[in-house]
Amino acid sequence: MLKNPCVSCGACCAHFRVQFYWREANQGESEHPVPAHLFEELTPQHRCMKGTGKKHRPKCEGLKGRIGKDACCSIYLNRPTPCRAFTASYADGVKHTRCDDARAAHGLLPLKLSDW
Ligand code: SF4
Ligand code: SF4
Repeated sequence: MLKNPCVSCGACCAHFRVQFYWREANQGESEHPVPAHLFEELTPQHRCMKGTGKKHRPKCEGLKGRIGKDACCSIYLNRPTPCRAFTASYADGVKHTRCDDARAAHGLLPLKLSDW
């Protein structure tokens, strides 16, 4: 079975502001809308995942479990575009510093090619 280091990590869900175009959370306009209780308004065009807009210790309220241990996205099928687009370091054979930064902020070592 392939191992996926993202499973249980979750560091990027508690490091960045996760913002998306407002329509992604609209019932009827998106195939997999972000649930209404998990986003907040950011600008007239943008919303963000609740909890990720905080200046200190941002953390998506959709994240369950403990970062680096058993974290998981509770709305995986309805997660917004930035979550779908975020690439873990070396998942595609290339280093991604945003993943490294998020992991470092939670005391986790950067991923290596051999982690995949
Ligand atoms: S993309 Fe990086 S920071 Fe995000 S869950 Fe995967 S390994 Fe962790
Ligand atoms: S929606 Fe899911 S994948 Fe996106 S930040 Fe929240 S917990 Fe992480």
